[in-house]
Amino acid sequence: MNDLVLAALFAASAAFVLWWFLWPMRRTRAAKPAPASSTTLRHELHIGGMHCASCVGRVESCLMNVEGVVSSSVSLPSESATVMADEGVQTTHLIEAVEKAGYHAELRNGDHHHHEHHHSQEAKTARFNFIVAAVLSSPILLTSMHIPGIPELPALIQFLLATPVVVLCGRQFFIRAAKSIAARNADMDVLIAIGVGAAYLFSIAALFSHAHLHVYFEAATAIVTLVLLGRFLEAVSMRKTGEAIRSLFELQPTTALLWNEGETKLVPLASIKKGDILAARPGDRISVDGQVIEGESQLDESMLSGESMPVEKAAGDRVFAGTMNGSGWIKFVATEVGEHTALAQIIRAVSNAQNSKAAIQSLADKITSVFIPAALLVALGTFFGWLMFSGAFDTAVINSVAVLIIACPCAMGLATPVAIVVGVGRAAQMGVLPQNAHALETLARTNMIVFDKTGTITRGKPTLTDVASSQISENDALAVAAALESRSEHPIAKAIIEAARQRNIQPQPIESFQAQAGSGVIGVLHGKSVGLGSQKFAESIGVSLDGIQEPANKSAKLGNTVVILWQDNVALAAFGISDIPKSEARHAVETLKHLGLRTVLMTGDSHVSAETIAAQVGIQSVLAELRPEDKSEEIAKLQRQGERVAMVGDGINDSPALAQADVGIAMGSGSDIALETSDITIVRSNLDAIPEAVRLSRAVLKVIKQNLFFAFFYNSLAIPLAALGFLNPMIGAAAMALSDICVVGNALRLRAFRPR
Ligand code: ADP
Ligand code: MG
Repeated sequence: MNDLVLAALFAASAAFVLWWFLWPMRRTRAAKPAPASSTTLRHELHIGGMHCASCVGRVESCLMNVEGVVSSSVSLPSESATVMADEGVQTTHLIEAVEKAGYHAELRNGDHHHHEHHHSQEAKTARFNFIVAAVLSSPILLTSMHIPGIPELPALIQFLLATPVVVLCGRQFFIRAAKSIAARNADMDVLIAIGVGAAYLFSIAALFSHAHLHVYFEAATAIVTLVLLGRFLEAVSMRKTGEAIRSLFELQPTTALLWNEGETKLVPLASIKKGDILAARPGDRISVDGQVIEGESQLDESMLSGESMPVEKAAGDRVFAGTMNGSGWIKFVATEVGEHTALAQIIRAVSNAQNSKAAIQSLADKITSVFIPAALLVALGTFFGWLMFSGAFDTAVINSVAVLIIACPCAMGLATPVAIVVGVGRAAQMGVLPQNAHALETLARTNMIVFDKTGTITRGKPTLTDVASSQISENDALAVAAALESRSEHPIAKAIIEAARQRNIQPQPIESFQAQAGSGVIGVLHGKSVGLGSQKFAESIGVSLDGIQEPANKSAKLGNTVVILWQDNVALAAFGISDIPKSEARHAVETLKHLGLRTVLMTGDSHVSAETIAAQVGIQSVLAELRPEDKSEEIAKLQRQGERVAMVGDGINDSPALAQADVGIAMGSGSDIALETSDITIVRSNLDAIPEAVRLSRAVLKVIKQNLFFAFFYNSLAIPLAALGFLNPMIGAAAMALSDICVVGNALRLRAFRPR
């Protein structure tokens, strides 16, 4: 054959690869479905048979091509797809589309064991195929290594041993590759199938043509065996990545102790309804969410909140499904059952977050989508290049096979998602629930952290510590204040009412009332207009502060929140209310500063008291006297200055600020987990969880970057080596299996992440 013919053949085949695989990619990208007009529904599917990033991309795009689908997100480690689609779209349509693309799909019924079963089934099949392949191919391999004294097996025997390995053990590669090619979507199986097929068919041709060409049965069988080994090990280690969520599932007891007129009876959990009375004996796991009505005990809530100290529970306190009763006996009424318990919500949140995509992954996805067609081109170039310059057909075949095998972008597809699955699982164990992978990524990159004061830095249980009155007695002042605050929900109101109660003061009924968020309250009592609120608020109304300005300042300097009581524009009293910082606040703030974050305190309280609290806990800057709507404006201002801001608040009245921040972190008190309003929810109210979350998020991002670097580095280094004939396809297959394991193993290191 002359060079011109070869060059023409190369050009033609390269053009075919480009047209077949890259052309349709453009088209699907251009054809974005119209935005959803009607209500969209969420579908959860289990997807079987995915092995690499291009599989993920393929399943995603085949789902997107179903009419009415708004978005689809596919996760490799958890083998699932989350699809948002218009009402009209049936789950069966989606399943059909996935099956047509060559994968297995079924409805995900929330049953975790079912899903687990799939993983272990896959591991078993992979193991069986691997063992058969290994047994049959080892004689070929051993004898082809040119060890002195061991003669090479006759080619015919090699052929007989290799055929079942390639045709039976490796059949899945060919089936999937055929479907991929037909769907004009190149994936890893295409590379493997072409590589193995080329080595095998060429060897058969060489065997029967008597042309004294080298046979490469050992390469074909070794590739099949090693790829199967890699998949088996991957399936096994992948099970480990799901450990965190598995242990959450195991927290759910299957029975409950029903209380019925003095007698207890063990009943199946499913029969428990809201309002049922239940009991927990010492050491029992709490069966559903409830409220204690009798008894006292200490509960271990660490499995939900990561908080290791047991929590005291008595009548009126809430208990949570999955937590462990200590040595006491309690009776409680079921308040939430089934999928409404905090545990069920946490499990849902964790699995959603684990299946979400990191932003950094879109880069990897983009690269892999053109990577395989590119690898095919390089393989073609290798084949024709060697043919032209060395003229040896067998060398040309084996070097291009090496290129195909080494190019398999397996590690690339796993690099990011495994790190997310393990990282999110570890976070959940620490009581940190990110809403998605993006939240963790952003947290890792923030350089400023803003704290709300009341209830976040401070305990949120204010008490009245000093009263300074002018013109009327302290108790009379307290009576007016309590009358006003009896209509308010604010923590300050609770402190005033509690103080009045302790002094046996009966608040009188108020004639009219109005609350000004972030300022105070005003009303009418005995026909006179009265008000209670911040000094700023009082001043804005024109209240004269004569007589109480000095004690008010003194109290504020101690870190107290000072509120002024007035009647007809004359100040009657100043109340100093103290809400001391949480005991761990200083430590948490110092740790965050060590991690390189700038700290800011935001509050509606006065400058003086805010600065005192900030100084007590070590916060660097203070933004005070802010109305609730000012807080998000201030955060936007910081963002415009280039800061990447995390905001920590209680998630209830701070939601605009939490939403404005790059990452909104809501601290729960265990009871009300505001899972939807924030990017990250901390299940306990302990501030030490914040620096822990930052450190973990950075560790996750680091693993992702290492994994991506490793995956790309290895591929881009190895392909030219293979093309130049320095790599043998078996080494390529071994390297591929190894890189897979390395990427998963690197992510599994996150399981060992320990809070300091
Ligand atoms: P924070 O930003 O610390 O959560 P808020 O925005 O709730 O505080 O309130 C800001 C300030 O407004 C309080 O420090 C207090 O001076 C005043 N204030 C708000 N509500 C009330 C109320 N019900 N009674 C008295 N003062 C109030
Ligand atoms: Mg607040």
